[in-house]
Amino acid sequence: MSRKVIVTVAPTGSIPTREDNPNLPITAEEVAAETKRAFDAGAAVVHLHARDPDTGGPTPDINIFRAYLAAVRASCPIITQITTGGGATTLNLSPEERFRPVEELLPDSASLNAGSMNFGRKLFPNTPDIMELYAQRMKEFKVMPEFEAYDLSMVQNVDHWIRRAGILKPPYQFSFVMGVMGGIPPTFKNLLALKESLPPGHTWQAIGIGRHQIPMGIMAVLLGGNLRVGFEDNVYLSKGILAKSNAELVEKAVHIIRELGLEVANVEEAREILPLLNKS
Ligand code: ZN
Repeated sequence: MSRKVIVTVAPTGSIPTREDNPNLPITAEEVAAETKRAFDAGAAVVHLHARDPDTGGPTPDINIFRAYLAAVRASCPIITQITTGGGATTLNLSPEERFRPVEELLPDSASLNAGSMNFGRKLFPNTPDIMELYAQRMKEFKVMPEFEAYDLSMVQNVDHWIRRAGILKPPYQFSFVMGVMGGIPPTFKNLLALKESLPPGHTWQAIGIGRHQIPMGIMAVLLGGNLRVGFEDNVYLSKGILAKSNAELVEKAVHIIRELGLEVANVEEAREILPLLNKS
């Protein structure tokens, strides 16, 4: 039996605008419709940020997050993940404000950024104190952390501050985010180094930014990992051609995965593969 690859879709994120791609989903209804299309195309996980419907900008508003999750959950049985980082660099949110939607809305998973960095020109603060707090709380609420590693040092952060400290037993889910200015550059050698820095047993995916989305994602698939696509990280289907929907990006990834002789995990299979803390 061939390996099942998990495709995650990140339909909105905190950075792209309608000027970057007019098909960017912003309201809860748009995000849910877009998530359903991506689910139908093969995505098993959705990674969500909330946007203010008036300004289009990122927001920590719990009511908006609540509306997004309700609409997504009503549209399809996809595995849900929400951000704990989104907008942190632009909105100057406290760690508590960043975490509040997680404990109130109980998604299957939430991102846990595995170290501080310069994100472009801005400081993205994720100190050991914040990491420990989030890991502790996610364990308590049975929400799987997805450790977002923007560099090799962040894999070590997780090992030191979370595993060795005994906060949360492995295995863990990791994302290797490649191509953010301030993080690790998106090269095959770097992805290989990241992958080899993980002890066996963890699950992981690559998140390539911009034109690196598909190449880094497929390299990850070839190395035994998974991939994330979607407008959060890339709004183009190919050079100079904007994607009409997030589903188009999922379709492209699914097509390549199948051409490689691999299969795409459905939601039930992805639930088995991922180290979710609440499997039901
Ligand atoms: Zn995100």
